Amino acid sequence: MNVADSQRVSSALEQLGYSFTAAAEEADVIVLNTCVVRQSAEDKALGRLTSLRPLKERNPSLVINLMGCMVGVRGAQVLRQRLPFVDVFSPPSDPGPLVSHLTQGEIQSMESDETTRRFQLMDEALLLPSRERGLVSAHVPVVYGCSHACTFCIIPFRRGVERSRPVGDIVSEIRALVQQGVREVTLLGQIVDRYGRDIPDGPDLAGLLRIVHEVEGLQRIRYLTSHPNYFTADLMEAVAELPKVMPHIEVPIQAGDDDVLARMKRGYTQREYRNLIDRIRHTIPDCSIATDVIVGFPGETEAQFMETYRVLADLRLDVAHLARYSPREGTVATRRMPDDVDDAEKMRRFRLLEELQESIVAKINQAYLGRRVDVLFEERVRDRWKGRTQNNKLVFVEADAELKGRTLPAMVTWAGPWSMQASLQREDALIGL
Ligand code: SF4
Repeated sequence: MNVADSQRVSSALEQLGYSFTAAAEEADVIVLNTCVVRQSAEDKALGRLTSLRPLKERNPSLVINLMGCMVGVRGAQVLRQRLPFVDVFSPPSDPGPLVSHLTQGEIQSMESDETTRRFQLMDEALLLPSRERGLVSAHVPVVYGCSHACTFCIIPFRRGVERSRPVGDIVSEIRALVQQGVREVTLLGQIVDRYGRDIPDGPDLAGLLRIVHEVEGLQRIRYLTSHPNYFTADLMEAVAELPKVMPHIEVPIQAGDDDVLARMKRGYTQREYRNLIDRIRHTIPDCSIATDVIVGFPGETEAQFMETYRVLADLRLDVAHLARYSPREGTVATRRMPDDVDDAEKMRRFRLLEELQESIVAKINQAYLGRRVDVLFEERVRDRWKGRTQNNKLVFVEADAELKGRTLPAMVTWAGPWSMQASLQREDALIGL
């Protein structure tokens, strides 16, 4: 989401005539887009911000913009006192305050239709900034914020309540991206499968996938993140029946024990999660599934942790993003639940799951040896092309031809836990392309 937000700001700045520089000392405008999902990320952002202060002192016309979750939906007032050298505070996903700040004088001197046209352009275009043109795969936010209330999570407080984007805006953005060479889009939401619930008579995520599927030139559609309670049968059927929608689902379990899940306020049980995975596997052939897990949540006993271990061992999912619980100021868990699993124990549990998952994925990927997979190639990395299979496996291929943005069949010749190597099936046909 933050990558997509940063692209949106870069694109808006380019439309105002600015161009990118990697050197802060050369910049007229510095945007610090922040993630605060963990306290350590917020501390890092504050450190970075403080390091920019001398630049502002040397060059008072420099515009510093703090953006994203650190500002949140209501935080600008408090931060303004704490950070007087910051000129503009913008909530997540909103380049508006920066654009208004930079155009204040200009707007006063513009004819009114010129102003309207400038802002229409900004709203409609949402193109990739020029240094990112040529991207094969792009992220498109479709629902902002989150109205769930997991007790460990700060996001609803910072990104605000759930707001779906109108379907017309999403489709125009995707068309513009495809015109710039993008072949794959990932539709984003904190709970993406709740898309459209706040728009009367609008499509839900299954409907949105069907609409986006019609965009000419688009080859692949992905979406994340799902929530076990909202992954409906209709959505599963849409994923199964639409050839451009890729068979890969990110659906976090977070913990395997029902009491821990209840304390996290996730809203489902281990049994319900297991049933969901069975239904996904039954409905969507060759679907890869990724999950998120937090170990060491307050009060998590050894027996409760072992429930998580067992569920991962049984379900054999393709990816598990693992995290050790850390208290996050402002969350319900931090206010009400003591962080009583010590760091060494959290690390032990983390390592156990890490080893388990590595052995599971190594075996899953071994089964691909000798199989034909369709790979969408994204970029050359040294002497190899990097791409992804339909179900999101990372593949490297040696080839001299230009493969960027092309989907080609390849035969898997080596498979490790984190990536695979493959050879092109029709390399002869590619020579000279
Ligand atoms: S679903 Fe839970 S974890 Fe995900 S963003 Fe919302 S509150 Fe946070």
